[in-house]
Amino acid sequence: MPSSALGLLAPIASFTELGVPDALLQVLHRRGITEPLPVQVAIIPDALAGRDVSGMAPTGSGKTLAFALPMAAMVARGLPRRPRGLVLAPTRELASQIAGELVPFLATRNLRAHAIFGGVAFNPQRRALQRGVDVVVACPGRLEDLMRMGEVVLSDVDMVVVDEADRMADMGFLPAVRRILDATSARRQTMLFSATLDDAAVRPLVRNYQRQPVRHEVVSTVEEIGRATHRFRSVAASERAAACAEVVKGEASTIVFVRTKHGADRLARQLGNSGLAVAAIHGGHSQPQRDRTLAAFRAGKVRALVATDVAARGVHVDDVSCVVHYDLPPDPKDYLHRSGRTARAGAAGSVVAFVSPDQRQAAAALARALDLDVGTPRDTSPVPMRHDISPAPLRRDRPKRRRAPYTS
Ligand code: ADP
Ligand code: MG
Repeated sequence: MPSSALGLLAPIASFTELGVPDALLQVLHRRGITEPLPVQVAIIPDALAGRDVSGMAPTGSGKTLAFALPMAAMVARGLPRRPRGLVLAPTRELASQIAGELVPFLATRNLRAHAIFGGVAFNPQRRALQRGVDVVVACPGRLEDLMRMGEVVLSDVDMVVVDEADRMADMGFLPAVRRILDATSARRQTMLFSATLDDAAVRPLVRNYQRQPVRHEVVSTVEEIGRATHRFRSVAASERAAACAEVVKGEASTIVFVRTKHGADRLARQLGNSGLAVAAIHGGHSQPQRDRTLAAFRAGKVRALVATDVAARGVHVDDVSCVVHYDLPPDPKDYLHRSGRTARAGAAGSVVAFVSPDQRQAAAALARALDLDVGTPRDTSPVPMRHDISPAPLRRDRPKRRRAPYTS
């Protein structure tokens, strides 16, 4: 068994033992972070050793620090318009979140990070690049625009992170990601993170853009996401909005996932009509609108966020007490990503999925794929059970199906 497969049995290494420099430790301690999470234990030493790393871990497992700390420790100082570090992320929210995390760590070495994304004016980004940005955190589209305009040159970039590569693929960004990577230094270190490393879209990135990467996996069972309890509720389509209102009323803060923009707007209206402070967030909104919505949610002025999958990428809000799958996600991967919005960093949380009568088979398949014990409604049930909440502890008591959290 590779040593990291010992996972939880092994004593938890400290950040110091992982090789994180003292100056960065102080920033961590100011933020109340004292012990590394498993994904950080796995990745930081290899990253600090300069190796290419492929990391597969569910949402909320702490991947940002796993790459941000090594990057802050090692990236070199850039020249104006010529950064040395690059982080690619699929959404503006995620890009600004990552840049925000990097700033205080980089500041210990007097280095700068800046977020680059579309939907906002070019000039502030252009000016920042002219002043000198050591680490660019970018969404692919706007970065390519700035490259074409000659505002940024990537040939000095020798440290690259591709975050959420699977989402990048889903969103059609991979051709741009490849062009961008092609523009960086051939000597670069490349770290790649993805909820999955084995699908047809992500595998070629690993193969063609990484050199003998060390592969670290957090096995994607819901267990690893945190302590969320999961339940599937049988709800007729016509009753979903009312059932959702009821869930939202019982929770401090909820993210409700719906499939389409239109669906998100409609549900937000319906919940609003029942007196709840809710807001929709989806790709049809401008960046300032999305920022305002997120700020209101973080501040607790909005009780529930009704989100599409794409818009919710990188919405990093701690203390979300509940996630509702209003529309059942077709793919277990999406279920994990969505569910990972709650129970972050070991906090408690609950996840509710609405299952309409015609979705029972799909729901059962999903529960099987994720090894969830959610009391999935049976197909033989004569009438749709409306509010049969089946509390569903995770199947923690079945060691034979519990795999080691890490394999390398
Ligand atoms: P991911 O990118 O894997 O989805 P993040 O990097 O956003 O996850 O981390 C999820 C949450 O966990 C964040 O709120 C982050 O501040 C917190 N976190 C990360 N590392 C630690 C740690 N070592 N101790 C406590 N909290 C942590
Ligand atoms: Mg992340």
